[in-house]
Amino acid sequence: MLVNEALAQQVRDQARELLEGGRVDCVIGYETGPRGGARPAFIYDAADVTRLIWNQACVHNLVTYLHDKKKPPRRGEQPPRVAVVAKPCDSRAVNVLLAEGQIERERVFVIGVTCEGLEDEEGAALPRCLRCADRVPVVYDVLLGEPPEVSPVEDGYGDLAGVEEMGASERLAFWLREFDRCIRCYACRQVCPGCYCTTCMFERDDGLWIDIGIEVSQKHLFHLGRALHLAGRCVECDECERVCPMDIPLSLLNRRLTREMEELYGHRAGREEVLTPLLFELGEEGSPI
Ligand code: SF4
Ligand code: SF4
Ligand code: SF4
Repeated sequence: MLVNEALAQQVRDQARELLEGGRVDCVIGYETGPRGGARPAFIYDAADVTRLIWNQACVHNLVTYLHDKKKPPRRGEQPPRVAVVAKPCDSRAVNVLLAEGQIERERVFVIGVTCEGLEDEEGAALPRCLRCADRVPVVYDVLLGEPPEVSPVEDGYGDLAGVEEMGASERLAFWLREFDRCIRCYACRQVCPGCYCTTCMFERDDGLWIDIGIEVSQKHLFHLGRALHLAGRCVECDECERVCPMDIPLSLLNRRLTREMEELYGHRAGREEVLTPLLFELGEEGSPI
């Protein structure tokens, strides 16, 4: 595993400066977990910044955790000010949450890190990194690391071809086979920076005394509903697919819609710092619809 100790030290120094100076109350970064992998870390004390790491296993999109920091810890207090370590792909989610009024810019400090690409546990490059052209965060308050040289990506949607070549009934059969394995654990939803409803509509419909809807038709509805809610908002971080315990290729579904949005409206979620949500962009001459 490639360990970028120089970059890790820069992250620690930045975190220490922010905490000691009282600029933030918490730094969200990465630390080594009990089995040697990377995991999210929440640092509240400058003395603990030594826990922070940076290596090829820092796959998590930490922007998701900003949702947990939106409320004051106690009544009458302000919400915490938070610094978050953001890779280029993760940084697009910051822009989406800003555009949707989910986070306040002045309460979030983005520690942007340039990225050479990440690896899975076997040392293979992550699929999302193979097609990634964003090696510098799109939004940051401080930028750490040097932009790496990468070859241009020829077809970032090349992996969708297998599904797109199928006829409608074959494609439906493919997806129903995939959804059949889903256990509705909701890990894909929980890890997604764009899924933040206080009560998810798919859980609201499963009342306290009613079993979770686990028939394939109900799982089909859950997945199509989630994909549509993310259309034009998914930042392609692939976190949903990474955490799925059933190995369901969710990125094929989400990125099919991403491609549709890009081709129809020239919109790719989170790419611009001043971002208008897609439904507002569709209005004529800038007027919201
Ligand atoms: S998708 Fe791009 S920015 Fe994200 S981890 Fe991979 S190479 Fe880095
Ligand atoms: S993480 Fe996988 S198994 Fe769990 S709800 Fe999502 S798709 Fe289904
Ligand atoms: S739907 Fe998946 S890929 Fe898209 S933003 Fe959410 S977690 Fe990331």
